[in-house]
Amino acid sequence: MSDCIFCKIIKGEIPCFKVYEDDSVLAFADINPISKGHILIIPKRHIENMWEATEEELVTVMRTAKKLIHAIKDAINPEGVAVLQLNGKAVNQVVMHYHFHLIPRSEGEGKLSMTEWELIPGNMEEIKQTVGKITAAIK
Ligand code: 5GP
Ligand code: ZN
Repeated sequence: MSDCIFCKIIKGEIPCFKVYEDDSVLAFADINPISKGHILIIPKRHIENMWEATEEELVTVMRTAKKLIHAIKDAINPEGVAVLQLNGKAVNQVVMHYHFHLIPRSEGEGKLSMTEWELIPGNMEEIKQTVGKITAAIK
């Protein structure tokens, strides 16, 4: 897609700090890292989100995440790594080319605030109804 920042990175029109590349994926450093070693993994085909991705594309991205999470562990030995993937503007997806975040958290960087949501018990009847709708829609 011509006006997509990540497609431009794939084509080499915008520079990046490349971490890994094969025929179907590219991994590179996020230029606004939440923490040291923050990496993005993208499929080379322009798709916006998980709804548009093929199962094969998802498997390929996940296989790359597995490869890189080991490299991150060996290289910077973080205390943990968050794997984050946003689908849609409502959940704050900013770049509309499907991507996976690998966000290591190392000693001294503090907690990752986005993972510290408050645990408030839900309405069990509402949960049950929503689960019923979703399970009925599984294809
Ligand atoms: P999201 O869409 O999941 O909210 O996040 C998009 C991510 O892409 C952000 O973390 C942002 O820093 C990163 N990003 C945006 N533009 C560029 C760019 O031109 N180069 C790189 N390397 N990362 C970018
Ligand atoms: Zn794109």
